Amino acid sequence: MKKQLVRHTRDYFQRIYNQVPDAIFLSPGRINIIGEHVDYNDGFVLPAAINKYVCFALRKTNNDTISFHAKDINESYSLSIHDNLAPVETMWVNYLLGVLDELKRRNKKVSGFQMAFSSTVPMGSGLSSSAAVECGLAFALNTLFDLGLSRQEIALIGQQAEHRFAGVKCGIMDQFASVFGKKNKVIKLDCTTLDYSYYDAHLGDYSLLLLDSCVKHTHLTSGYNDRRNEVEVGLKMIQSQFPEVHTFRHCSLEMIENLKTELGDIIYKRCLFVVKEIARVGQAIAALQAKDYPLLGQTMTETHWGLSKEYEVSCPEIDFLVETMVQHEGVLGSRMMGGGFGGCSI
Ligand code: ADP
Ligand code: MG
Repeated sequence: MKKQLVRHTRDYFQRIYNQVPDAIFLSPGRINIIGEHVDYNDGFVLPAAINKYVCFALRKTNNDTISFHAKDINESYSLSIHDNLAPVETMWVNYLLGVLDELKRRNKKVSGFQMAFSSTVPMGSGLSSSAAVECGLAFALNTLFDLGLSRQEIALIGQQAEHRFAGVKCGIMDQFASVFGKKNKVIKLDCTTLDYSYYDAHLGDYSLLLLDSCVKHTHLTSGYNDRRNEVEVGLKMIQSQFPEVHTFRHCSLEMIENLKTELGDIIYKRCLFVVKEIARVGQAIAALQAKDYPLLGQTMTETHWGLSKEYEVSCPEIDFLVETMVQHEGVLGSRMMGGGFGGCSI
């Protein structure tokens, strides 16, 4: 499938531009075992890159034009390297312009180039096609134009591109997982410090299975940004009572219970989820290390009901998938995966 993707992307590039690309890049999507909606709440997450990719074919030119072709949706876009960059109506273009803008802000210069891309990461399914697009372009330009960016900078460029040009206030998990992923490894990422370590992804006799609900989301309108605002307000209210709380990591369940009335029903539930989820990731990592897969599965299912009832980012179709799956003998746990409002269950 990977070879086919590369071949099709290269052939497409040649057909569109009548030229051979200088280089091909593969940028992976990701799964996340546990730690949902805590990457922007100073938690830990446990993602892994997967064998589904956005494939980029690129060629440097001798002029000032930058051209993008999106094979999967048969659309194209061109601009001059001198153009002022600002978000445009066409959503997919924004992920790419956002990256160019971030390079500009860092004084990293590119000349004209031609690019075509195609993907096996489904769009809007929670496997982070958006991060794969952003980071793939940043990685490719870094190599092609010798920009000297580190992997961490590439991940941060992807995240900022999504904030500024796509309007989605995503955390750092997706971009980090795409850029730092390694074969058969999950990454434990501390979203406060960006410290990370790798764990074996082998789960004994068990496998990770994704079920695509086929309910599509777009995080610009999904409620993702609302959640970010709600927890931001919640944290400020907690801090005004408990100044020692710098982030949700320093916050206890007792503090939230104490402030239940002040926080109000919605913000109380959101904060409750975050504090519990941060603790659950710790439990899940211990279970993974101890090869206690039933406990890992149970923790994942608890996360699901937190996401569904407290953070309210699931949907009836995903709840159905989870409820149905956990009734099967041999299924250790199940949950919604990714930002939510559709997408996949794991
Ligand atoms: P997710 O990251 O979970 O897949 P998002 O809503 O964050 O979902 O990002 C999906 C968006 O990324 C798409 O709507 C599209 O704009 C862009 N995108 C992703 N993959 C492609 C692709 N292969 N071709 C064009 N645009 C893509
Ligand atoms: Mg995304």
